[in-house]
Amino acid sequence: MDRPRALVIGGSVGGLFAANLLRAIGWEVTVFERARGDLAGRGAGLGIHEELFAVMRRIGIRIDDSIGVEVRSRIALDRSGSIVCEVPLRGVFSAWDRIYRALRKALPAQCHRPGMQLERFEQDAWSVTAHFADGSRAEGELLIGADGVRSTVRRQLMPEVEPRYAGYVDWRGVVEEGDVPAALHDLMFHHMTFCFAEGQAASIPIAPEDDTRQCARRCQFVWCRPVDYEITLPLMCTDASGRCHGISIPPPLIRPELIRDLKESAQARLAPQIVALVARAAQPILQAIFDLESPRMAFGRVVLLGDAAFTARPHVGMGVTKAALDAQGLADALVASGGDVAGALACYDRERRPVGSLLVARGRRLGAYLDAQRRPPGGLRTILREWGAAGVIDGEPIGAALA
Ligand SMILES: Cc1cc2nc3c(=O)[nH]c(=O)nc-3n(C[C@H](O)[C@H](O)[C@H](O)COP(=O)(O)OP(=O)(O)OC[C@H]3O[C@@H](n4cnc5c(N)ncnc54)[C@H](O)[C@@H]3O)c2cc1C
Repeated sequence: MDRPRALVIGGSVGGLFAANLLRAIGWEVTVFERARGDLAGRGAGLGIHEELFAVMRRIGIRIDDSIGVEVRSRIALDRSGSIVCEVPLRGVFSAWDRIYRALRKALPAQCHRPGMQLERFEQDAWSVTAHFADGSRAEGELLIGADGVRSTVRRQLMPEVEPRYAGYVDWRGVVEEGDVPAALHDLMFHHMTFCFAEGQAASIPIAPEDDTRQCARRCQFVWCRPVDYEITLPLMCTDASGRCHGISIPPPLIRPELIRDLKESAQARLAPQIVALVARAAQPILQAIFDLESPRMAFGRVVLLGDAAFTARPHVGMGVTKAALDAQGLADALVASGGDVAGALACYDRERRPVGSLLVARGRRLGAYLDAQRRPPGGLRTILREWGAAGVIDGEPIGAALA
């Protein structure tokens, strides 16, 4: 009997998790990614959780210690650099590239079609057909929309569901281990640091790019700063030639005066330990923060997964883990349904939707703390515990809720 065919739209981590897991349960899988080149090299640091490793192992990916950098605690620094609060809490940070490359390697090259941009799809009771920008089309029994926060698949199904601007941007930048001042190594590579000033600034370590190089850890700063959507954001996304790129801008086109202002503002407002990272980051990246909540994830033979369905703000630190668990939930539902694809997708929708909603709500709550007036009753201690949290928060076991 022919194997059932899945069309996966989006070849980032969500699509790759789904493709690998569906292959393992006997599906023929093709991933259609609009970008032509390798996505690696564009990512940065990322909080990871044991649930993510479990899904990677299920795919057959070998996990060793070099995949993560472990931190012992979260530390809040004041403007002078003194520690104002420390919460002992273990956490592991990896690198987006690292997870992406492992997933790409696990998938045979013939399953991956770069440079393929989905334009639309149609479905009936038995099949779904995807139409691409180059005029070609592909047919399968299942279409997975893993095409991110601005998903084409979701827009066709629910045009009214739009990403919601959070009211702030994040600036981030990466510094190689060798460029981090020696006096800061212990702080930057064994702790997550925060400074609450004009928004929230933080630092996290990033795992080495691969498992062969011993000394290639990196460190990342993130600074969330309030920016109005109508006037300032488009201005910030305007390059030196006067061209506005909308609500995002390729990092090399960010105007030099904005980078200068970022560095000077950091100097004036942030703890010197974080200023040291801002000053040394070669190419800061600017990203407007949005979140998104879908009222449905399954539509007949079409399903949404990862950021296409729910995008939580980055404070939650769960984007990749959530995408992995969505993919696992989908594979398990397909196995359990015994061939009833629509029934499996309905079951997936019931199980995964509450998790997505929970994470989006958590991201909004953490984002609200950017405003010093809206700090939670436990103050800094509560914020430090909740940021990118795994484990238990307010008595609620987050890992269990995710899985
Ligand atoms: C290059 C890159 C780097 C990232 N780096 C980080 C990081 O350092 N830290 C972090 O926490 N998160 C990072 N993320 C986000 C993270 O991957 C997501 O938050 C989360 O893991 C969910 O992933 P996703 O696959 O659902 O969505 P996304 O990662 O957003 O991927 C969506 C994919 O769909 C493709 N796509 C979109 N529209 C179409 C279309 N019409 N046809 C075909 N393909 C389409 C996009 O090109 C993209 O590759 C990054 C994402 C990308 C794409």
